[in-house]
Amino acid sequence: MKFLDYFSKNIGVDLGTANSLVYVAGRGIVIREPSVAAVNNKTGQVLAIGDEAKKMVGRTPAHITVIRPLINGVISDFEMTQEMLKYFFKKIGAEGRAFHYHRAVIGAPSNLTEVERKSVEDAVIGAGATKAYVLEEPLAAAIGARLPISEPTANAVIDIGGGTTEIAIISMGGIVTSKSLKLAGDRLNEDIIRFVREEFKLAIGEPTAEELKIAIGTALPVPEKLEMAIRGRDMATGLPKELVLKETQVRAAIARSLKIMVDSAREVIESTPPELVGDILKNGIHLCGGGSLLKGLDKLLEKELLVPVEIIDDPLTAVARGCGMAVEQFDKYYSVVNNPLRPRDIKI
Ligand code: ADP
Ligand code: MG
Repeated sequence: MKFLDYFSKNIGVDLGTANSLVYVAGRGIVIREPSVAAVNNKTGQVLAIGDEAKKMVGRTPAHITVIRPLINGVISDFEMTQEMLKYFFKKIGAEGRAFHYHRAVIGAPSNLTEVERKSVEDAVIGAGATKAYVLEEPLAAAIGARLPISEPTANAVIDIGGGTTEIAIISMGGIVTSKSLKLAGDRLNEDIIRFVREEFKLAIGEPTAEELKIAIGTALPVPEKLEMAIRGRDMATGLPKELVLKETQVRAAIARSLKIMVDSAREVIESTPPELVGDILKNGIHLCGGGSLLKGLDKLLEKELLVPVEIIDDPLTAVARGCGMAVEQFDKYYSVVNNPLRPRDIKI
């Protein structure tokens, strides 16, 4: 009992732009909710957080706004991030355990400035953790995927989230080359909204765009014909209108953004030392994050980069599991989690 209590005081946190997950050491993932909050603009009161708030997106009256406290992996609203974390921590506590935590390992994008990094640590400490350690997301994902990160071989990871795409080549416990691209799943939704507006003069909300992306979005042509009916507002008449979209149209809408992702991955590989490039060819690239589930994206990367690409099992939880494992085996991962002096050879 005492042993378990000790473990339950350490947590791993994946504070994502789209989704937040909390892993309690010895227990696993206990919180998995959207990183959103609904706020009353008049009073500043927080009305709902997480799942409850996500249901309100695009459906609120004028005095209620659903906000995302994180933008592109960076905290944009500190107070709200802290509120959100407090809410999640309390939820865990409601299951009969204390909601004060000893040590927290938090996943964050790899190119944060000192100030942004400090803000992530402070938010977690403010929400109830004693010590906070930031673990770069690609490293967290690689640990979560049980890749041999400490070996002198290349572990290539691409984490496509809501706000950022993290591309990193890891060797000997550190990031050798990396790029944090502020273009990911959210941008694809925006592309779809714009496309539908420009091509069909139909205004649709973000939830509809996301639904389209998940249901019929594809990175490469698929053998079957996919289509989906959507409803929105006809911009000419101002009235509701229904329309059927095909997968070819959604693919056209997101093609440019996908090309930027592919080009960025290519740039990272091009600036990686040749020995490690040889390893990538052998070990392949590991994809994670919600964006990696876009149909055919793995095949598109494989085709464009000429290396094997594979999606990590349970790609949406890899970072949280990695942070959880790092906090459970803190001594083993100490140098990975807490190494400000780690050489960052080539940053592009
Ligand atoms: P973050 O780490 O930024 O919180 P996640 O890894 O949770 O992000 O991924 C969220 C993103 O993944 C969202 O943009 C969402 O639309 C996208 N996503 C989730 N499932 C799918 C899917 N099946 N196909 C395409 N995109 C998806
Ligand atoms: Mg993420």
